[in-house]
Amino acid sequence: MPDEIETLLRKAAGERNVIAMGGGLPSPRQFPRRALVEALADVVLQPAPQALQYAWPEGAEGLRERIAEHMRSRGAAVEPDHILVTSGAQQALMVAAQLLCPRGSRILTDPETYPGALELFRARGITPVPWTGAPSPDACAVYVMPAVGNPRGVAMSEEARHGLLASGLPILEDDAYGDLRFDGPGPRPLCADAADRVFFIGTFSKTLAPGLRVGWLVPPERFLEAAVRAKRDADLQANGLGQAIVERYLQGDDFARRLEKLRAFYRRRARRLASGVRRELPGWRFGFPEGGFALWLEPDAPDCPGGELGLLRAAIEEGVSFDPGSGFRPDRASHPLALRLCFSALDPDELAEGARRLARAWRRISARA
Ligand code: PMP
Repeated sequence: MPDEIETLLRKAAGERNVIAMGGGLPSPRQFPRRALVEALADVVLQPAPQALQYAWPEGAEGLRERIAEHMRSRGAAVEPDHILVTSGAQQALMVAAQLLCPRGSRILTDPETYPGALELFRARGITPVPWTGAPSPDACAVYVMPAVGNPRGVAMSEEARHGLLASGLPILEDDAYGDLRFDGPGPRPLCADAADRVFFIGTFSKTLAPGLRVGWLVPPERFLEAAVRAKRDADLQANGLGQAIVERYLQGDDFARRLEKLRAFYRRRARRLASGVRRELPGWRFGFPEGGFALWLEPDAPDCPGGELGLLRAAIEEGVSFDPGSGFRPDRASHPLALRLCFSALDPDELAEGARRLARAWRRISARA
């Protein structure tokens, strides 16, 4: 993220009167706080609490069994021994990138994709390049979100899925939002069809809480040992307390019901924001998402004076912030003008008010044109 945008967003985040529509945070209303406290008490009060002890880098066996069960329910037969528990999906991405992509290599991505992945690739000297579907034998891998993309919130088309599998390239399959499709469980992961070259990346950040820092990686079997070593070198093991809490939580029978509740909750929030935007900014284009936390919007007059930075400044002055589109683009382009608005962490009246404030900022900017 360019320094100026980051400075503006950080400053805005500290201001109580600014409605933060960026960031992609899960709803604080949906953290299963009571269940997490009970799980915490349970694992810490054990006579010899493994949750507080050093453990093996691959992660707790019981948790890996639960993750394997969950992946089976999505149609991917994964053995617990093939799962590496990581500090969130972010570390899973880092381990996969480390194993596949040497400094100086190129990685293919969607034309808009998760900024945290783009930043990670660039920091490791890997150049992200938008994938056109054309053969690219010199690329180290393709980074995709087949079930629910970030920022657009839609699944990869069948055609793109087939094209990707036929490309023969190694694949980083980021399933961060895969359990949060509004219409039910996500599609069969790509790793079920090409386990020998797909690195599957999962997380409990969006479905339980990001503060737990528990995610996972399923690398192709021949990369497993190297992945465990890379993980161990980075931080010895994922947070033992977080792992134990998640494992304990998953032993209850609540997770499937919880996912259903979350899907309905986030769909309602998405509708609310969509109707606010349609009302306040009728010319702006967006597709209604199939899942996830956000809308990707393209204003009707893409040449706004001052560009996205000008719009962000005006928006913050009006009391609303958003994620500028350039952060999602492999080439950092801020044209055509686009932005991400998250509906996930805000209440319905804040969503409506956020859209109103953004429309005021847009009118001010447009008047200058
Ligand atoms: N992938 C995507 C697509 C994400 O949106 C995020 C979080 N914003 C991550 C990975 C990282 O998630 P985690 O908290 O599990 O590290």
